[in-house]
Amino acid sequence: MDIHEYQAKEVLSNFGVAIPQGALAYSPEQAAYRAREMGGDKWIVKAQVHAGGRGKAGGVKLCSSDSEILEATNNMFGQRLVTHQTGPEGKGIYRVYVEAAVPIDREIYLGLVLDRSSQRVMIVASSEGGMEIEEISESRPDSIVRSTVEPAVGLQDFQAREIAFALGVEPALTQQMVRTLQGCYRAFTELDATMVEINPLVVTGDNRVLALDAKMTFDDNALFRHPNIAELRDKSQEDPRESRASDRGLSYVGLDGNIGCIVNGAGLAMATMDTIKLAGGEPANFLDIGGGATPERVAKAFRLVTSDTNVQAILVNIFAGINRCDWVAEGVVQALRENPVEVPVVVRLAGTNVEEGQKILAQSGLPLIRATTLNEAAERVVAAWNSDLDQNTKMRAV
Ligand code: GDP
Ligand code: MN
Repeated sequence: MDIHEYQAKEVLSNFGVAIPQGALAYSPEQAAYRAREMGGDKWIVKAQVHAGGRGKAGGVKLCSSDSEILEATNNMFGQRLVTHQTGPEGKGIYRVYVEAAVPIDREIYLGLVLDRSSQRVMIVASSEGGMEIEEISESRPDSIVRSTVEPAVGLQDFQAREIAFALGVEPALTQQMVRTLQGCYRAFTELDATMVEINPLVVTGDNRVLALDAKMTFDDNALFRHPNIAELRDKSQEDPRESRASDRGLSYVGLDGNIGCIVNGAGLAMATMDTIKLAGGEPANFLDIGGGATPERVAKAFRLVTSDTNVQAILVNIFAGINRCDWVAEGVVQALRENPVEVPVVVRLAGTNVEEGQKILAQSGLPLIRATTLNEAAERVVAAWNSDLDQNTKMRAV
């Protein structure tokens, strides 16, 4: 789960990371009021969306008066900000963060990620902050410092000092750097984050080390341990299809194709998507309905997949190990009787009680297209989607 910049800053500041003074606003008037309340004569107004690259996309504006704040925020609220990280549909702006502008001496990149090969938290830093890390690794790979943390002892002060030296931070600021690194590391591990990124971490004209931007991502599977973090979720920033799925306990990722997939098991779902592509189709989604595959879950999955208007054919691929095909088939029939769908549906069942399952599908009277192997299923769903469908094979209200 991602959170907003202003939320990440608050979280990190509770772990000792220094941040500029700032306040959140839900309207242009409130933004101007927040700036007046804060005082000073220059403010940075920042669109709060779950994506980086806002600066280049017009989502970060320097303002020096009330009217400039009103104008900048009027152009933000209700708009969708398109950055290189959002995709063409962009992300809606419903909150802006107003910060006291600070004079910047130097910009540093700081990121903490999970390095799977060393099975450690890795600190990645560069003296070339402000640019995206992908850009830095292209243009200034020599500037990147990497350091993995031994989990048994955590981040040691000497290790943090080494990182500060490697970045060429002035000795007088080392202690602030150590405090920042320690804060990020503790926030990362204590809150089950998967990513902490401060870009830029700046040294100000008056010698303070401040997080000017902040991003945090959390492990969804650990959110139950951190209800105060789970509460920071902002559904307006998520793909509505994915929010609906996670609310229903289904694991769903929306894609751009036309063939909806209903599958049990993540590995089988991946294999199904691959086979659809091999057969010349494009999957509309990844969907793992889990091991249970009860009629209720199958029905939920159908509703979710058909709520995507791009879906023009559906492939149900269920492997029954502990489960039973006849049970799954009952689920499919029940789901389609209750919620008829208007696109062709191909069902492939394999595993325990497959014959009984096939019989239930055949006797249902529903115009289902059946398949035995995964290849056959993929070919049939692509063919059904391709052909200008005969109305009889389309599912109509039964
Ligand atoms: P991003 O583009 O989404 O990563 O948004 P950032 O929060 O990183 O802001 C983009 C850029 O705006 C930063 O890299 C800074 O160069 C600049 N910026 C942000 N806040 C301030 C500030 O308080 N003072 C100054 N001078 N520049 C700032
Ligand atoms: Mn940034």
